[in-house]
Formats: sequence, C-alpha cells, structure tokens
Amino acid sequence: MKKISILIPTYNEEKSLPLLYPELKKLMDEQKQYEWEILFVNDGSCDSSLNIIKALRAADDRINFISLSRNFGKETAMLAGFDYVTGDCMVIMDADLQDPPSLITQMLEYWEQGYDDVYAKRANRGKESWLRKRFSLLFYKILETTTRFEVLQNVGDFRLLDRCCINALKQIRESERYTKGMFCWIGYNKKEIVFNRGDRIAGESNWNFKSLFNLAIEGITSFTTAPLRFASVIGFFIAFFSFIAAIFYFFKTVFFGDVARGFTTLIVVVLFLGGIQLICIGILGEYIGRIFNETKRRPPYLIREYNDELIK
Ligand code: UDP
Ligand code: MG
Repeated sequence: MKKISILIPTYNEEKSLPLLYPELKKLMDEQKQYEWEILFVNDGSCDSSLNIIKALRAADDRINFISLSRNFGKETAMLAGFDYVTGDCMVIMDADLQDPPSLITQMLEYWEQGYDDVYAKRANRGKESWLRKRFSLLFYKILETTTRFEVLQNVGDFRLLDRCCINALKQIRESERYTKGMFCWIGYNKKEIVFNRGDRIAGESNWNFKSLFNLAIEGITSFTTAPLRFASVIGFFIAFFSFIAAIFYFFKTVFFGDVARGFTTLIVVVLFLGGIQLICIGILGEYIGRIFNETKRRPPYLIREYNDELIK
C-alpha cells in the first residue's frame, strides 16, 4: 500500500489546529486505499500548539510530530519535515486551512498518473496592499530574467512531491533557504492545479512586510549572482561617461580657461558616485554575508522532541 505523508509546519496555531484536523481526518478516512501520515513540525510555538498536537497523536496514531528547539522559520521547519517524512509522496500544507485539503484528492490523481511535483497555483492573491503587489511583481521579474530555470508566480508551498523530489530537496542543506526557488530548481515532472486561496480561518499571519522583503532578498541572493554583474555594468558605464566628461573639461579649460567655477558639477558627480559605490558595496555585502553563514556549517535546525521522545 502506498503511503502519503502530509507535512504541516506549525507555529502558534492553537486556534487553527482543532479546525484543521477534522478536515484531514475526513480526507484520510475517504481515501482508505492509502496509508497516511500527518507530520507536524512544531516550529518553537509559544502557545499550546504542541500540547494540541500531542493530544491529537494520542487519539490517532497516523499523526507524528517533531518539535524544534526554537522558532527557526517556516523554510527551515520544512527542511526538518523533508528529513522526517516517511511516505512515498508528501503534501506540504499550511496549518491555517488557506490550502484546501479537498485539493489533495486531485493532486493524488495526478501523482498516480506519473507526475512528480503537483503544485497548486493561486488564481487570486487575496487581500493585499497595492505596494505589496508591486514589490512581489518586481521580485518575480528580477528572478525570472536572471535565473536559468523557470520561476513560477503565485505558487506557494502547497504541493505534492514524489519521493524522488523529497530526496532531491533533502540534499539541499544551505542554511539560508528559499524553498520556493528550490522546488523550481530541482526540476522533475511538474503539473499545475489552479485554486482560489481563502483567508486564514483563525490566528494571524506570521509574515509582515519586513519578513517578506527579507525573503525576497533571500530568494534573489540565493538563486542568482546577477546583482553582482549589475554592479560591474553600472561601474563600467559610469567610468565610460566620466572619461568622456574628463576629455570635455580638459579641452574646455585649455581653450576657455575656466578654473574656479564648476563647483556644482563637482559636487553632483561626487555624490552620485558615492551613492553608486554604497549600493555596490551593499550588494557585495549581501553575498559575503551568505558566504559567511554557509561556511559556519551549522546544522540548519535542532530537534527537541520526536513523537513524545526527548532527543538528547
Ligand atoms: N510557520 C512556521 N514557522 C514560522 C512562521 C510560520 O512554521 O516561523 C507556519 C505557520 O504555522 C503556517 C505556515 O507556516 O502553517 C504559513 O504561515 P502563515 O499562514 O503565517 O503565512 P501566510 O499564509 O500568510 O503566507
Ligand atoms: Mg497562512
């Protein structure tokens, strides 16, 4: 019998979990031809999420959980999940029911047809500010034009992955993670399903503008070195125009004897170049920071508890 794992990264979801479980139970009881596992990754919740998960596990032995030693963020929590799921395929979903469990049946059908990665694409982006939408479009544009693989828009982490994809993802151990990019990077046989994403049923989103901005920088710096090239190209152009300007001013001085004036030009050029240099140093810094973090070779996450067993 084929085994399906459902991976649910969970951070402060005490309000959502009691609503989520009945939905999943319904699905698992309907699809009796499969063996099921629900793997909760408790990402250092500071509410009663872990206790709720333990209570669920006591009542239903299809539920497994790992509990991380602190909050590592969703990206890392998912990696922990990849390491611990036992199924022949895995469905990643959020705890807040924004990803409808009913779609899983359809995903399984495609999986049976031989697709390795069945991902859900949002038909709408839901409630979002104008600014956030603009930034997100710009972000995709940058990634799209600078990477060699296709970057999918409006696709979240809600997807079904075959064992071959899970094994591929397990090998990507970088500590600063942009998982959405990794799904595209690994390739394999992909299939799209379009759905309408609802709003959170309970609790609050853990993402704000700052964390999304950080994730965008993560996405760009971990998948493309194009900004470094951008810095060189800008440098080249400025050097070129400065050279022309230098010749111009040289002849102007020789023939017209303009010596003391030109303060405005000077200050403008100095400020402009200073700005460009700071931008380029900043770009370099982003990459050096990443190199620094990766060379430390720390384990990406630490586990405190696995299925009621304390890890020492
Ligand atoms: N999550 C997590 N660790 C975090 C933040 C979030 O495991 O540090 C989980 C959260 O419990 C939920 C999923 O990631 O299951 C998506 O979080 P959220 O709903 O806040 O994100 P959004 O739907 O707004 O993108
Ligand atoms: Mg959500």
